[in-house]
Amino acid sequence: MTKAKHEGSGDAPHILEILRKKRNGAELSREEIEHLVLGHTRGDIPDHQAAACLMAAHVRGLSPAETAHLTDAMLRSGEMLDLISLGKKAVDKHSTGGVGDKTSLILAPLVAAGGLAVPMISGRGLGHTGGTLDKLEAIPGFRVNLSIAEFTRVLEQCGCAMIGQTAEIGPADRKLYQLRHFTSTIDSPSLICASIMSKKLAEGIDALVLDVKTGSGAFMKLEEDAALLGELMVDTAKRMGVRAVALITDMDQPLGRKIGNALEVEEALDVLRGGGPSDLHDLTMTLAAWMFHLGDRTATVEAGEQLARELIASGAALARFRRMIDLQGGDARVVDDPLRMPRTKSCAEIASVSSGYVSAMECERIGHASVLIGGGREHEHEAVDPAVGFILHKKLGDSVQAGESLCTVL
Ligand code: URA
Repeated sequence: MTKAKHEGSGDAPHILEILRKKRNGAELSREEIEHLVLGHTRGDIPDHQAAACLMAAHVRGLSPAETAHLTDAMLRSGEMLDLISLGKKAVDKHSTGGVGDKTSLILAPLVAAGGLAVPMISGRGLGHTGGTLDKLEAIPGFRVNLSIAEFTRVLEQCGCAMIGQTAEIGPADRKLYQLRHFTSTIDSPSLICASIMSKKLAEGIDALVLDVKTGSGAFMKLEEDAALLGELMVDTAKRMGVRAVALITDMDQPLGRKIGNALEVEEALDVLRGGGPSDLHDLTMTLAAWMFHLGDRTATVEAGEQLARELIASGAALARFRRMIDLQGGDARVVDDPLRMPRTKSCAEIASVSSGYVSAMECERIGHASVLIGGGREHEHEAVDPAVGFILHKKLGDSVQAGESLCTVL
């Protein structure tokens, strides 16, 4: 009864009217966007109407004002954390989505070991890109669904915690993120901005480093589109009083050599131990440097990078990862023995048919292939297989002989 009154009377906008308006390319008001977002989060507006709206927004685009209203409404769908009691600056990093991108797994413990708080709210696999939550769940027992009280306790005890959107924090994004994955409405700058910024601003952080991917494996294939998305997100952060920077980084090939949930945890551990592939290591050091600098831990970005290198070399970052896994219910023995994570018994090699150099990679298709072999979800409610994935033996520019393996499929 309350619902009928809400939808059909008074000044409340009607959902069908809103849908028609956006379908026809008109600009929605703050009130209309709030009605949609909050109604869908509460369950008053069903998924099919929200999906139609996402598609209209994707096709017609959202103005800067609509994007700001959407971000605000999604942020206000849940609670905002207050981390003042931690007594330290809180910073975070978020990527717009890539293939083989496991930097979050390294950055959270690394930056926490350097004295800042990292309250990280992440997502699951989206489209062809991997999700931090799916990777963390490759660690037996690891819980990404902590309550706010548990999340805060882990933060107090080890300086970092990694969870997903909950019914309390970012509930609008939790529902819309899923819908976008299954309705092919992911690669819209406004929807990406609202999704990322509503989660990140709810964390109550002081500073945010945005890793905006561009290239064949990114949602923003062109560098100019990535730059516009970066500007949109930095402006949104500033409006909310959060210091932010956006780095445009390469996604023309997977980051590192391993793609797949358990494999990516393993490669993140390699970097935390002081090894790992150079592209993954170097990007992680750059992102950490900016986090330290924006969080006022170091006076310059260069000093931030120096600190990050020291924390890896001393083992402090690795020890912090072990502690976080333990506090979130995971089997911390994976740190010393990654084979405790699921691993397939069989594998296959993909051999090069000719000799030459690797000149390009269809990175998005590699991401899709990873979903198809079970590393991501093709259907809602499907479980991911943490064990499967790819190990790349060749990267862009490498020489290859006919018959040589380009990649192992697990
Ligand atoms: N990461 C998110 O959290 N949301 C997006 O829309 C894309 C990447």
